[in-house]
Amino acid sequence: MAMTGLQIHKLLPKTNCKECGSNTCLAFAMKLAQKKADLSECPYASDEAKQVLGAASQPPIRGVALGRDKQLTLGEETVLYRHEKTFVHPTALAVNVDADDPGADDALARIRDYLLERVGEEIDIDMVCVSQAGQSAADFAALARKADQTAAKPLVLRGDDADSLAQAAAAVSGAGAVLSPVTAESLDTLLPAAKEHGHALALTAEDLDSLARLAESARAQEFHNLLLELPAHGPAERFQANTIARRAALKAEYKPLGYPLIAFAHDGPQGEVGAMTEITKYGSLCVLPRFDEAMLAVLMTLRLNIYTDPQKPIQVEPGVYPIAEPGPDAPVFVTTNFSLTYFLVSGEIENAGGSAWLAVPECEGMSVLTAWAAGKFSGQMVGEFIKKSGVEDKLETRRVIVPGHVAVISGELEEALPGWEVLVGPQEAADLESFMTSRLS
Ligand code: SF4
Repeated sequence: MAMTGLQIHKLLPKTNCKECGSNTCLAFAMKLAQKKADLSECPYASDEAKQVLGAASQPPIRGVALGRDKQLTLGEETVLYRHEKTFVHPTALAVNVDADDPGADDALARIRDYLLERVGEEIDIDMVCVSQAGQSAADFAALARKADQTAAKPLVLRGDDADSLAQAAAAVSGAGAVLSPVTAESLDTLLPAAKEHGHALALTAEDLDSLARLAESARAQEFHNLLLELPAHGPAERFQANTIARRAALKAEYKPLGYPLIAFAHDGPQGEVGAMTEITKYGSLCVLPRFDEAMLAVLMTLRLNIYTDPQKPIQVEPGVYPIAEPGPDAPVFVTTNFSLTYFLVSGEIENAGGSAWLAVPECEGMSVLTAWAAGKFSGQMVGEFIKKSGVEDKLETRRVIVPGHVAVISGELEEALPGWEVLVGPQEAADLESFMTSRLS
């Protein structure tokens, strides 16, 4: 039976020295109980603790930290389905640059500068992949170094020649890169290089059994900074292989397959479907063949959907937000602080070309109807929020618009806001433009 955090805590030194990265031994014990940490991260763990906790304390899928500051962690997943708990680390997206590409410098700058804004979040590209593509070892290493300096992101170094790969690994020593591919033939060359220069290895083999054996070889040498590139032809096989690996790691606690998964998407529609498969089914790192803004936007949006924690609504800070420089006659719209609602309503008001205030009281990130049903979005509460916000002082005409779904709060709001005209808006944000044209102009 799994041990609880308190049971594990009894076996730890209890000095709270923080060297494991947790503030206290108890916090570390809790992480161990959730299989989000490894006992080896505590340098002072007693032999008794190692014996009792042993393999049971390791996360079913190892965490692999990449980058110079170890800023990107892959793995550490504990569930098959998001609704069981949550997915932990979103699939990292890398963009490939070939060493023989004359536009490599430009591509690196675009990868560095790309930024997508979605529901208030700014999302950038996680990693850069540098592929040897027939160039000499020296040219490959030079581009790896340039990518490390220009893009300042964790790297994937890709090349079939193990000696060239080892040379590139040395050129970016300490960069926390992924070396790929690592086969049974190249392991003896690349494992020492990865150990010496602080990189991870992406193991690959013809079939799952061979891959598991290769992972065992690395594990036998006390090397766990591993990713697995599963053998698969096309998205359907990829879906199946990824599912087998995740199930084996989680359900059977099969350690050789308990590592983050890496995949390289091909150019063209099948590659695009493959990349989406990685995001939806257990890929930890997906390398895209080239810089493609449209594709990145699609994949990042999909990833945002899959990796949003269903137990934590995305919220915006409560407040009264100006939209397009509202004047003294601007109306005040009200909605909840559920991010999606906020961005839909503010976007539609902007699209309508009007200006307004958008009052967003604290509703614990719930949508309008849910917040109202939970008693968090009453007329009284909205009225008090608007009064406290001070927006009244900026207005000569006082009009407040409540969402159509909660027309029922308008009477209470009128009592809470004497001197205000309370209007009932449309039920759907998409109808705000016609509402503003017909009722507010
Ligand atoms: S490193 Fe070990 S002793 Fe120090 S805080 Fe972490 S668990 Fe406790």
